Amino acid sequence: MTIDSIKNGIVIDHIAAGKAMELYAILGLGELDCSVAILKNVSSGKLGKKDIIKIDTILDLDWDIIGYVDPNITVNIIKDGQRLEKRQLKLPERITGVLRCKNPRCITSVEQELPQEFKLTDRERRIYRCLYCETQAGK
Ligand code: ZN
Repeated sequence: MTIDSIKNGIVIDHIAAGKAMELYAILGLGELDCSVAILKNVSSGKLGKKDIIKIDTILDLDWDIIGYVDPNITVNIIKDGQRLEKRQLKLPERITGVLRCKNPRCITSVEQELPQEFKLTDRERRIYRCLYCETQAGK
């Protein structure tokens, strides 16, 4: 695949510079069979520098997680060389299975099979708290 154009796939754009690898890891992109390109520190008028991830196939991504990593990210779905859809992301109200509670006495630390669930408690400051013990999630 070429870096500049993509025929069918997903372009995750406006990622804050330096966050592409975090997103890559969280989304599990390393497990995909298709090509994935990561562009780092691309010049951007809006942000100064940004990262971009290009995935050479259309797949269903976990939009909530992308919004959690950085709600300013835009996702472009490309089909037959045309932009099919541009998705603006937002901070999800709840996150399941990504963050881990740091409180060793939390029920989710004791009972490992419980899902790790966090809820958004402060949209302005992007603070998430454990659903069970209210411990703040650390980034
Ligand atoms: Zn907890």
